[in-house]
Amino acid sequence: MSQHFQKTDIMSLTYEELSGFVKETGEPSFRADQIFSWLHQKAAVSFDEMTNLSKGLREKLKSTCELKNLRILTVQESKLDGTRKYLFELYDGNTIESVFMKYSFGNSVCVSSQVGCAMGCAFCASTIDGCVRSLSAGEILSQVYEIQKDTGERISHIVMMGMGEPLANYDNTVRFARLASAENALHISQRNITISTCGLPGPIKKLSRESLKITLAVSLHAPDDEIRTKIMPVARQYPMETVIEACREYFKNTGRRLTFEYCLIGGINDSDACAAALSKRLKGLNAHVNLIPVNPTENNLSPSSPEQIKRFQLILEQNGIQVTKRREMGRDIDGACGQLKRRML
Ligand code: SAH
Repeated sequence: MSQHFQKTDIMSLTYEELSGFVKETGEPSFRADQIFSWLHQKAAVSFDEMTNLSKGLREKLKSTCELKNLRILTVQESKLDGTRKYLFELYDGNTIESVFMKYSFGNSVCVSSQVGCAMGCAFCASTIDGCVRSLSAGEILSQVYEIQKDTGERISHIVMMGMGEPLANYDNTVRFARLASAENALHISQRNITISTCGLPGPIKKLSRESLKITLAVSLHAPDDEIRTKIMPVARQYPMETVIEACREYFKNTGRRLTFEYCLIGGINDSDACAAALSKRLKGLNAHVNLIPVNPTENNLSPSSPEQIKRFQLILEQNGIQVTKRREMGRDIDGACGQLKRRML
């Protein structure tokens, strides 16, 4: 009789879950600390590396657990700013992208949450072939661990702005945020973990009750539904008012200021009237707008002119809206997410 035995995805277990697992196998509890440290502090990729475990325990782990390791396929480094863009192969042959960026405040990694994306935004290269599957918490974490090993640099910030819609992979995203910020793991401050969403109202509200201090970024990209539905199909399902309502609830429950991302596309959403309408829409919300000049991909969209970006920013400021312009990194190395994968495969 064939038995279907599912191996445990040990990288995705929280410390508490791992402790329970170790207890079940009849091992003393300090083994959980050792294994957790190997996985999340020393970034081990095999059980054989865990030299302070008994040979017997290592064999037991091999037969009951699996490590869904990532392998670096290519790295591109920007000559302009040291940004490094990684193409990783997952254990099942799928590929994803991650980006390492150096800022004055520390080193940041942009991680993917899914293989591809189902959201269909007009400007985004990650969504062209749809969503193949979601990543486990361990696979999201491994991007950070592998990059930390490859660069030899400590990572202090994580943004979930790579491929995929994090809130369409809700449980693994929350698990990832808890693991990345765990004291006995990487211990990245939750404030330095940004979850970026295209604006799914239900999951935003649910997230507001998780007692996480992460930063939420919402991709708005338009001042109204008429323009938003043209570039974001998801807007047909969730009108902007329901998204903003969810954001209000998020702020009320967490006290955390939100970021609205606004990708400026020439002639589509960058007029003075758009800036004025957006200001009106966001008035009174404790939020901040991050303007992003659109990165041309396979679409026919063009970035707004630098003059129009300045005007747009000025109008928001004059209306009392806090606004910053995203610093563009790695322009010379397929900067926008999903671009490297498309070029390589
Ligand atoms: N699905 C999530 C996170 C991934 S996209 C979300 O929608 O927020 C991360 C950010 O990159 C989003 O704000 C997205 O709109 C933006 N983005 C995607 N493609 C882009 C492009 N070609 N140029 C500029 N920004 C882009």
